[in-house]
Amino acid sequence: MNNHIEEEFDIIVVGAGHAGCEAALASARLGLKTVMFTVSVDSIALMPCNPNIGGTSKGHLVCELDALGGEMGKCIDKAFIQTKMLNVSKGPAVHSLRAQADKQFYIHEMRKTVENTDNLYIKQAEVSELITEEIKDGLKINGVVTSSGAVYKSKKVVLCTGVYLNARCIYGDVSEYTGPNGLRAANHLTKSMMDKGISVRRFKTGTPARVDSRSIDFSKMEEQKGDDFIRPFSFSNDPWDIEKDQVSCWLTYTNEDTHNIIRDNIDRSPLYSGDIKGTGPRYCPSIEDKVMKFPDKERHQIFIEPEGLYTNEMYLSGLSSSLPEDVQHAMVRSIKGLENAQIVRNAYAIEYDCIDANQLKPTLEFKRIEGLYSAGQLNGSSGYEEAAVQGFMAGVNAARSALGKDEIVLDRSDAYIGVLIDDLVTKESFEPYRMMTSRAEYRLLLRQDNADIRLRKIGHDIGLVSDEEYEAFEDKLKMIADEISRMETKIAGSNQRVNDFLNKYNSALLENSKGVSFASLIRRPELNYELLEEIDDERPELPWRVREQVNIEIKYEGYIRRQLQQVKQFKKLEGKKLPKDIDYKELSGLRIEAQQKLNLIKPENIGQAGRISGVSPADISVLLIYLEQLRNKKE
Ligand SMILES: Cc1cc2nc3c(=O)[nH]c(=O)nc-3n(C[C@H](O)[C@H](O)[C@H](O)COP(=O)(O)OP(=O)(O)OC[C@H]3O[C@@H](n4cnc5c(N)ncnc54)[C@H](O)[C@@H]3O)c2cc1C
Repeated sequence: MNNHIEEEFDIIVVGAGHAGCEAALASARLGLKTVMFTVSVDSIALMPCNPNIGGTSKGHLVCELDALGGEMGKCIDKAFIQTKMLNVSKGPAVHSLRAQADKQFYIHEMRKTVENTDNLYIKQAEVSELITEEIKDGLKINGVVTSSGAVYKSKKVVLCTGVYLNARCIYGDVSEYTGPNGLRAANHLTKSMMDKGISVRRFKTGTPARVDSRSIDFSKMEEQKGDDFIRPFSFSNDPWDIEKDQVSCWLTYTNEDTHNIIRDNIDRSPLYSGDIKGTGPRYCPSIEDKVMKFPDKERHQIFIEPEGLYTNEMYLSGLSSSLPEDVQHAMVRSIKGLENAQIVRNAYAIEYDCIDANQLKPTLEFKRIEGLYSAGQLNGSSGYEEAAVQGFMAGVNAARSALGKDEIVLDRSDAYIGVLIDDLVTKESFEPYRMMTSRAEYRLLLRQDNADIRLRKIGHDIGLVSDEEYEAFEDKLKMIADEISRMETKIAGSNQRVNDFLNKYNSALLENSKGVSFASLIRRPELNYELLEEIDDERPELPWRVREQVNIEIKYEGYIRRQLQQVKQFKKLEGKKLPKDIDYKELSGLRIEAQQKLNLIKPENIGQAGRISGVSPADISVLLIYLEQLRNKKE
């Protein structure tokens, strides 16, 4: 009698964090029998760090994920306790929605969703080994083994292990081999991954202390309220569907005392003593890094954010640290409004194993292990949103591959998701990768507000956007197109009413009699589609998202057209496919560094080859000539 259970699934997902949940939901919703493992069922969709979803560029990822049929947007629309559109003073390309989350309610809602999805099963067990077999150019996945010896067979496995592999939590000289919040770490899988030839590295990230709100003097801080207009993340939700009282966040600052406390104790910081070996995120620095690297900065912003309605815990955003406990207490109490702070949880850093994503194809499948996919923090990214979108793409691709269908790759002109994954699998990164709008060349096209226009059809074709949602989307497209053409053809005459209106907004009056189109008025910086309602009697009743698109499409039409031109060029190079089996060492015209990098990455096309650091334009010319010769030979 085999004293270990043995079961078969279509898809195995290792991890129930933000990546794991999206991967498992995608494959189960596509009809595949899916099992999702986690070391603790209570950590499903855990938010171990900042209590918010979205923000600059991260809001774009959430909207894109929702447009494709992912879950995070719908979940945060249920669990948010404050919502705010950031960067509204800037152009629409960088408008970014951020919602403060009630962490427990977010977990509650995501858990309810995953536990009630057909074909999806959850198991609390540590996966400790990968089962593979040799094939021609590498290995093939056949399943996993858990630390109890149970065997789970499958042709597709998605690794979403986050910050748990050989996790170590550190503050001062306190060091514990646990996952976040004292949860169990996963200490066996890394060895099995390395035995299969996967190269692993060590990254770190950190989180600030949590303080009891009853011990905070908010009268000494600046209140940060949410927006009156509640804009949902999900395209399936409307503001009117969401009635909610919002809570506030609070703004205070560090000061010279705080900085002196840190400087005086920097030798006791595990970060500066070298005890922490993992590489941390440059764009989420610890307070000790900020104070040491920017000594002239008089103060640093600290946002006090509620962790939820069910608790008094407040998150000290901007004060991430791994300094010793006594230093943390002195540091926190040196800050205005926190003089009597009661710390509930100390700040700490966490080190964990992750992979170099150069080992992955743009589908997030390992190049050398067929059927094994990887997503989330394990790929060297940082952030709930970055993890969720990778989980979704890996889950969809594992499922489609299991169904014998083509896998989905979004490119840099389709979505921030495409930029994120292309950067991870193509470029070298030596620290946790955080998404930023500056990483996206075509960000005027990749706006948050038009994520559905860019991706809804793909989500529907995949089968994760329902027909009902898609019909509503098509209606929206029609309304936008109709209203834009109405604005392009409707003429504002040079009459008293129009000129009074123009005068009211300090806009140039219409002198000649011919009049101008409403669209040309919208293009004036001081005017927009909403304002023109005053002189537009036949204006139809249109949903806010339609009105928003009409305004942006008309107002930025010139910029958008120019960026579409650039995308045409980009697509041309992306279209020049490179054979998978080239040994670049044989292309003598290439420099040695380029040969090595090209053999490591095995780019799919000329465009991707051009983005590999160490591959020069001269090397690209060699590749283009080589492709030309190949084509002539074929002909
Ligand atoms: C202390 C700390 C500070 C952070 N600071 C920041 C920050 O400042 N900025 C930021 O953007 N992000 C930060 N993060 C990261 C953020 O939490 C992650 O980006 C996000 O949670 C990653 O999601 P994920 O799904 O990849 O992994 P996780 O959310 O870590 O989930 C991993 C899942 O895998 C499971 N698992 C792992 N190994 C196994 C195994 N062998 N067998 C079975 N199950 C397994 C775990 O149980 C868990 O369910 C921080 C995280 C921590 C812990």
